[in-house]
Amino acid sequence: MTAIAGAVADGVLPGRVWLYSNYHCNLVCTYCLTESGPKVDRRELSADRMLEVAQQAAELGFTALGVTGGEPFLQPDMAETLARLGAILPTVGLTNGTLFTGRRLAAAEVLAGSDVALQISLDSADPDVNDEARGPDNFARVVAAIPALVERGVTVRIATTRELGDEADMSRLCELHRGLGVPDSDHVMRPVISRGRAVTTGMGVAAGMNDLPAELTITADGAFWSPFGATVHGGRLDTDLLLTRTTDPLRVPALTLLGLVEGRPAGADSTLNIR
Ligand code: SF4
Repeated sequence: MTAIAGAVADGVLPGRVWLYSNYHCNLVCTYCLTESGPKVDRRELSADRMLEVAQQAAELGFTALGVTGGEPFLQPDMAETLARLGAILPTVGLTNGTLFTGRRLAAAEVLAGSDVALQISLDSADPDVNDEARGPDNFARVVAAIPALVERGVTVRIATTRELGDEADMSRLCELHRGLGVPDSDHVMRPVISRGRAVTTGMGVAAGMNDLPAELTITADGAFWSPFGATVHGGRLDTDLLLTRTTDPLRVPALTLLGLVEGRPAGADSTLNIR
């Protein structure tokens, strides 16, 4: 057993490796960690590179993958890539859910029956509240896409990112996602983290290394502690949670991360409920 496999089995190290497929996005959300939007630089991991990382992750003893961005489905053939990643390790693909019409919706059928879940952002049962942060018509597009994907056999999770408050709205949101075919077990909630555009808009809670699960995160710019580490503010990549610029072989950042985790004092692990 590798050192990584042992640490994952012992619960010392999270089993998931994250991949930033790209940083550009069709939306410009007010709390975006990566200041993503249509006009940002194309900093990408190719499909082949993501598959290489996935293979190395499996060999090292990691147990799951995540793909995030930016909006991953702006990358060509993302559904096919996710299906191939899911054949290596169970995979969750984060998406804003606004692109699943026509060709992309049909292509997503390859995920039916695979070990891939799509995690779609939906922040409120109130279209105006949701769209204020995520853009015009976001709510309508997402509530159309979710049942269309579910009908095609795709596993869908819903992620709600919001500041605390309004329990009545949360209750309506849970009724809504159940009605769209997504059970409570596939609804995740997380706070707005004050990084990226959320700093500019004055939103969210501060989060440092000890607040964020130590999930190895690979981007075109290097390897990070947590997918909440590879963020962008003021157009510049944040490097406070950068592990190594080297990402190949994967054992270099993986062992760096393990060394940091093992060096932490007892009890100094995550305090924010982020998954
Ligand atoms: S939060 Fe997600 S959907 Fe919104 S701009 Fe950022 S990457 Fe795009």
